[in-house]
Amino acid sequence: MESLKYKCLKCGICCHEIPDCHGAKRIPLYPEEVDCLIEIAQERGINFTVKEDLVFPDELNSKILVLTYRIILEPLGHCPFFKQDQGCSIHDKKPHACQAYPLSLRTLDAFKFEISIDPLCTFIISNYDELENIDIERLKVIFQDEYPKAEKFFRKNKKLQFKMKKLEAEKQIKITRSITLDNFNKALETWERVEIRSEEKNK
Ligand code: SF4
Ligand code: SF4
Repeated sequence: MESLKYKCLKCGICCHEIPDCHGAKRIPLYPEEVDCLIEIAQERGINFTVKEDLVFPDELNSKILVLTYRIILEPLGHCPFFKQDQGCSIHDKKPHACQAYPLSLRTLDAFKFEISIDPLCTFIISNYDELENIDIERLKVIFQDEYPKAEKFFRKNKKLQFKMKKLEAEKQIKITRSITLDNFNKALETWERVEIRSEEKNK
């Protein structure tokens, strides 16, 4: 038990849509990661598209604030950078979420999240009994390389959260927290978009 160490089994499951759950797989990207991947896709002639993921309505300016996007997996059923013969084809440009995987950020509410383990990863399924009630210190040992990346992912989200709170405190934006679904959908249809970016470059 003590010797368990995470090793990717190269099954590619994490780059694919979840079977029978169309649209459920979420590979989040920050705006600067989208820019980087668009560039690579154009160079390679790959059809790469994204849709908005984490967004907030800014009532003060009638704008939709976009924090993250997600990769559209259709029509392939997997990330367009996944290749059957090599797996991920953009290793050194992988988004934060993919670098940290199978550790991920679980959203607790609009502004709170925590580091968790994705139960859909094949390695996790294979070792579920040992990982089910794991404490943080063992998690760091088993996921020696991934844990620091998950922390980096976490810090980046915190930075964005801080930026939003600062903008709110300075009264530059006003996030509507009690908006009805109908009004939110109307806002999504008509309001302009503004991306919220942290200053950090994608590595
Ligand atoms: S699902 Fe897990 S084991 Fe399979 S490729 Fe992804 S990270 Fe590796
Ligand atoms: S960027 Fe790479 S690791 Fe991430 S989903 Fe696409 S192919 Fe998989």
